[in-house]
Amino acid sequence: MKPEIVVWLVRDTCRLSDNPALQYASKMAKSGGAQLVPLACLEPRRWADKQFGLPRVGEHWARFRTECLQSLRNDLSTRGCGLWISAEEPVRALIRARQAFRVCTVISDAPLGTEERLETERIQAEGFQCEVVNTDELFRFEQLSFDLVGLPATFSKFRRIVEKKPGISPDPPQSIPKLTPSFDQPWPDPIEWIEPLGNQISPEIEVPTRGGEASALEHWKAYLDSRALSHYKLTRNALCGPTQSSHLSAWLSHGCISVRQVWYDILDYERREGANESTYWLRFELLWREFFHWYSRACDWTLFRRRGPNDKDAGGDHNRQRFAIWSKGDTGCDIVDAAMRELNQTGWMSNRARQLVASHLVYESNLDWRLGAAYFESQLVDFDVASNWGNWAYIAGVGADPRGGRIFNLNDQADRYDPDQIYRRRWLQ
Ligand SMILES: Cc1cc2nc3c(=O)[nH]c(=O)nc-3n(C[C@H](O)[C@H](O)[C@H](O)COP(=O)(O)OP(=O)(O)OC[C@H]3O[C@@H](n4cnc5c(N)ncnc54)[C@H](O)[C@@H]3O)c2cc1C
Repeated sequence: MKPEIVVWLVRDTCRLSDNPALQYASKMAKSGGAQLVPLACLEPRRWADKQFGLPRVGEHWARFRTECLQSLRNDLSTRGCGLWISAEEPVRALIRARQAFRVCTVISDAPLGTEERLETERIQAEGFQCEVVNTDELFRFEQLSFDLVGLPATFSKFRRIVEKKPGISPDPPQSIPKLTPSFDQPWPDPIEWIEPLGNQISPEIEVPTRGGEASALEHWKAYLDSRALSHYKLTRNALCGPTQSSHLSAWLSHGCISVRQVWYDILDYERREGANESTYWLRFELLWREFFHWYSRACDWTLFRRRGPNDKDAGGDHNRQRFAIWSKGDTGCDIVDAAMRELNQTGWMSNRARQLVASHLVYESNLDWRLGAAYFESQLVDFDVASNWGNWAYIAGVGADPRGGRIFNLNDQADRYDPDQIYRRRWLQ
């Protein structure tokens, strides 16, 4: 008789607390008398493939994800549980697991993009019972008053629906389930450990981010303790500064911190320190993220096509020289060049800077917007398929922007957001 296992397939949710997929998998394992097996895959489609000649995984993201998995493995091991890591696509890893175990169920975080959805379908087609659970959204699908086909076409409409009275409330965060210690039977051919991949944290980065649940919670607590949240709306558009915005994005994107936890902590902060427009505005930005998560699922593959979800011509070509100039930060437009150099060296740039460089790529470098999205994918430490491709499509005018795209006057923006040239001098020296 093969031992029975329930697999918790870790995709982009690298944490134990408030993790509905882990909760569900652990409950299934306990009720069926099976062993819970956490499994993470370094999928070749993501880790080894290229798009438009660019790597899908860059050094900043790889470094952060590796730290997340190491941290998750430590957190599991303190509870007597292992984390199996495979360098294969999940379906291949599961087929191999079937040689040694009876795989009762596979539970995973719900896919955001087309590739992850197809991956789930491939697992199911191999005869595995595979269920997906929302782990990194504020709302469960059942809480929304629309289905994906009826998803409001713009953020404003989406926000009005979820905020209307009585609004929808995110479920309160859940605690870590009690895990039963793993048995000793090894996974066939496991990768026993993963060496740190990619570079160390760039010394240039303003807010050093290390992957993992503990460092996410530590950073978030320090941000709340600093009381910067009380003036977030006034500073969030700044190009630099350690507390001008929350700097939570990498931890949210790799699922190290639960967005519902962040939401409830903001409500708690409002009770203690007082609510104002700024404290609301961070929740407003989390709703943008939420919108893009559902939007990405609703648009499916159309989010990645040249004409975007709106099936509109955005112009632009694939000229290699113009692309190299833009991506290296050699355009001659100093605000864009500074931002691209910050991105290349650190894997991060502010939201304002992202909008400016995207506007330049589409409307001044006249390149296909997808080259910009793919370049961000390969560079950002906080890459999130929904937020990245959704924002790029928005700026290019083929996505959710009711105004049909955003063209920024880059000189005006530089004067407004970098009046003393502090940011530009820092990155262009
Ligand atoms: C072209 C472009 C590409 C982007 N790509 C990504 C990406 O791959 N991953 C990513 O997390 N964000 C992306 N963003 C959104 C945004 O720029 C970053 O989330 C933000 O700059 C991260 O800094 P922060 O955590 O300090 O944000 P804060 O201002 O503190 O906001 C808090 C959180 O809200 C969410 N958020 C804020 N603004 C947005 C937004 N416009 N869209 C979606 N979520 C938002 C993020 O999770 C962020 O961490 C992109 C924006 C643009 C214009």
